Amino acid sequence: MAIDELKKIKDDVPFSSPVDPVELGPDDEIQFRCHRDIACFNACCKNIDIQLTPYDIVRLKRRLELSSSEFVGRHTTPFPMDHHDVPGLKLNTKPGTSECVFMTEEGCSVYEDRPAACRYYALGSMGVRKKDSAQVDDIYFIVKEDHCLGHQEPRTLTVREYRSEQGCDEYDQHNREWRDIILKKRSSGPTVGAPSERSLQLFDMCSYDIDSFREFIQTEGFGDIFDLDPRTMQDLLADEDELQQFAFRFLKQVFFGVMTIPVKEGARERRIAQSRRLRERLREMSEDE
Ligand code: SF4
Ligand code: SF4
Repeated sequence: MAIDELKKIKDDVPFSSPVDPVELGPDDEIQFRCHRDIACFNACCKNIDIQLTPYDIVRLKRRLELSSSEFVGRHTTPFPMDHHDVPGLKLNTKPGTSECVFMTEEGCSVYEDRPAACRYYALGSMGVRKKDSAQVDDIYFIVKEDHCLGHQEPRTLTVREYRSEQGCDEYDQHNREWRDIILKKRSSGPTVGAPSERSLQLFDMCSYDIDSFREFIQTEGFGDIFDLDPRTMQDLLADEDELQQFAFRFLKQVFFGVMTIPVKEGARERRIAQSRRLRERLREMSEDE
């Protein structure tokens, strides 16, 4: 099934695709090596189209000592990830070029914190949910672009070894819950309908603006609804990675009703009554005018 999808990707594109439609598992071998002395050094960073994940953003903003919103504002461009305009972010290029903003003549200036997409290359991956199963399995495939000479280097290693060398597992682990939200949203199809404006804003904040999310969980509005004990709150405020995982749980609760964060008794009813009062007040004001 997955292999058919890969072939379809290759068949559908109107030009020669670099995707090799051979499905690879973690123990399959690949031939590849990238290093500073290779003739094509930096070629892949000169023509980028990189979608960022939430963990990419916290790693990069910490490295550059920026707030999450500063990083997003300076170094990313928004794009709609699907027909419901679920927000995605792409890494910026240098003005007037397709070169990555972080590329220098000496190589990647953020190498230790480079995004997941840069770590995967030249492996592609795809999460596939088997029919009637909640489990998502990863399959891999090789991407062979003409400019990349790494495929001609005399080194073979397994997909697992390559991913471990590139630090992919750590990134996957941090992004797993988020990716699950995206897959769930896609597989729920049109029956669920378009998310509200408010839901999209929450998705944006939980995915890409961890500093605003930290402030959000300390607001009165959040505290009116969610029942977090002081110790949990303290731990979340002290550990940004934990906070990000909590943000994904929050999203799952809001989007899909997966209840993992305790809610205060009667909170929903109080919230509805409050909204009703606000709507009535607004109507009265518009009638007065
Ligand atoms: S972040 Fe680094 S590795 Fe990734 S495209 Fe930019 S320069 Fe290349
Ligand atoms: S071998 Fe491939 S991945 Fe490495 S620098 Fe060259 S083009 Fe980029």
